Amino acid sequence: MRVTDDRYRRDRSRLELALRLVKHEARTQTIRQWTGLSDDRVRKLIRSYIRPGAAIRRHRGKSPQQVGFFLRTAQLDHDTHVLAAMLVLFGVLPTRQRGAAPRRSAPIQQGRLLCDAFDAYTRIVEGARIDFERAAFLADALSMGDEIRLQWCEHCGGVNVIEALRLREVECRACSHVLPLQRPGRAGRAMTRPPATLGNQTGL
Ligand SMILES: [Zn+2]
Repeated sequence: MRVTDDRYRRDRSRLELALRLVKHEARTQTIRQWTGLSDDRVRKLIRSYIRPGAAIRRHRGKSPQQVGFFLRTAQLDHDTHVLAAMLVLFGVLPTRQRGAAPRRSAPIQQGRLLCDAFDAYTRIVEGARIDFERAAFLADALSMGDEIRLQWCEHCGGVNVIEALRLREVECRACSHVLPLQRPGRAGRAMTRPPATLGNQTGL
């Protein structure tokens, strides 16, 4: 009975996360990666959830892969900093430079935290310009740290999103203190997307 209960709870957790991801207009592949559900089950879920006339759009094609998007304009830069702060606040990314990364949790729990951080960002920023797929990509890119990274200001402790390969020093957004140049490196191993084959492995 206990095995059955555990399996039921896991399955229910997967479905609850999948529904949150559908509402966030995540791609089918993204939903499959985070939940471990099969493509077929994700498609059935989407069909049963999205009724004709629903406001939810479906995105097709590849997920975004250009980090240049996040700092392209002053508005996007602002959105990116708010979202990055939420990713730190909700434990998707580490809280301190070179500090211990949050303990890696199961993909479903990570997916929940990512949704929580994205929900908070969209509540704070009116007319949020970063969609969920890009938010997931930003979390990946910041946790890798080889193109853009988090840098904490030594003066005020504020968190900044900066280009990892920049040649010039930049100022902290919060206090204008100059942020020293740092060699690219991983900010932590907080979050990486679950393997694309997860759904196949679980056989669900
Ligand atoms: Zn500062």
